[in-house]
Amino acid sequence: MECIKNSHNAVIVLEIIEAIHQNAGYLSEIDGATGDGDHGINMNKGFMLAKERITADMSLSEAFKILGQTLVMDIGGSMGPIYGTFFSQFSKVTKGIENIIPETVLAALEASTEKLMELAGAKPGDKTLIDTIYPAKEAFKRALEGNKGYAEALQAMAAGAQAGKEHTKELVAKIGRAARLGERSKGFLDAGATSCCIILETMSGAMQRVIVNEQI
Ligand SMILES: [Mg+2]
Repeated sequence: MECIKNSHNAVIVLEIIEAIHQNAGYLSEIDGATGDGDHGINMNKGFMLAKERITADMSLSEAFKILGQTLVMDIGGSMGPIYGTFFSQFSKVTKGIENIIPETVLAALEASTEKLMELAGAKPGDKTLIDTIYPAKEAFKRALEGNKGYAEALQAMAAGAQAGKEHTKELVAKIGRAARLGERSKGFLDAGATSCCIILETMSGAMQRVIVNEQI
């Protein structure tokens, strides 16, 4: 049976941190088109703080927990609690599970999507990160229902995230700072949807590299 070990797999979280770090300038540029241009700076600050507290030998769920807590406690604005919740849900769902199977990942995606929609008061179509995570979760679910393997389902998740993020260009912002622009927010990517896409694509790639075949 294909699974991802929870033990010693903090590398997945470290790769996500590195991806946000590498894309900090790009994220601020996107935020600058419809907002105040601080998204990359804020994200980078929180993710780099978490990096100091995470070591590669930690479990995946422990690393998710530290990242989530750091984002909630140490970065301001709306993004701290939002991404804090995202990673805390991944930690909660995977905690105590050594063999993380695709159904575990689906449960984590479902739990975090639900909590994020609650917290942000957003639904698909509002031009937020929900427009990335929701189709990513649905694509992953459809892949599992179609009996796809672990890697293929993770690839479908990344493709769903990418398509969802791109679609935010066509949407009018309904909540957040960009909502003040109304129709003028059309034509631009949403910064949160873009960072969420980077996170899910990186998670997909990092998870695919550590899939093992286990006799259970
Ligand atoms: Mg901003």
